[in-house]
Amino acid sequence: MIKKDYLIKAVDASKQIRIILASTTGVVEEAHHRHQTSATASAALGRVLTAALMMGSDLKGEADALTLRVNGNGPAGSIVATVDAAGNGRALISAPQADLPPKAPGKLDVGGLVGPTGYLEVIRDMGLKQPFKGQVNLLSGEIAEDLAQYYMQSEQIPSLVALGVLVDTDLSIKAAGGLIIQAMPGAQDDLLSRLEENVSRLGPISDVIYRHETLEGVLAELMAGIAYQQLDSRPLAFKCKCSRERLGIVISSLSDEELADIYEAEGGLEITCNFCNQAYSFNKEEIDAYKNKQPGE
Ligand SMILES: [Zn+2]
Repeated sequence: MIKKDYLIKAVDASKQIRIILASTTGVVEEAHHRHQTSATASAALGRVLTAALMMGSDLKGEADALTLRVNGNGPAGSIVATVDAAGNGRALISAPQADLPPKAPGKLDVGGLVGPTGYLEVIRDMGLKQPFKGQVNLLSGEIAEDLAQYYMQSEQIPSLVALGVLVDTDLSIKAAGGLIIQAMPGAQDDLLSRLEENVSRLGPISDVIYRHETLEGVLAELMAGIAYQQLDSRPLAFKCKCSRERLGIVISSLSDEELADIYEAEGGLEITCNFCNQAYSFNKEEIDAYKNKQPGE
């Protein structure tokens, strides 16, 4: 069992293939705990968050962010994950309690919960005037093949994507992780077919995370018979960017009447962050202070 949440990157010796491997069991457990997700919702949310963390490994600047949004017509509603360059990610799902019977023993129906129709959107905010946006229609709602389709259509990069979340009978997360393999232009067929063979021998990615002790060990098995070089390793974490100050801004957008209504009904004001479920309560004085604050102060 790989205990640490981290990702590694590698290339083959001829630099035709690029690999990202991630272990996210703790991150997905935290997402499950925060949102009290059902088994299938944990798997859906965990796959989207794991994918975003792997995609975000190309971010460089401190303020850079990547958002992966999956909007399907299934009972899960929207699933959104946002990550930064330091490997911190957070995620939300519209209907965390939604669930479906498994497709087969041990096979959670993520595609049914998410889709099958809808779209997947990637937003890369690299501090430029306009963030980069790409969108594709969902293929199945299983996330991994939808993301592979995104890479092909939006970025013209042939990719193999594997995402897996193993949910235990008590709903805790037993293992979670992901793998992205991308072929550079001109990658040779014999190298690709060798790698494909290795991938299918490896088995489902969540089992791989459960079976191995380190991602470096997984990489060695994945690259059996192929010379390669490991490039990068970085820790991953579930970490939200919310704060009292950030959520206090919501107050200044409410009218006096709305605030008075809420106050009368609730006896106070509590704002919950959608991304991490942290609740912040504000008393009358604090509300007045935010209310009187001018934008930009
Ligand atoms: Zn938050």
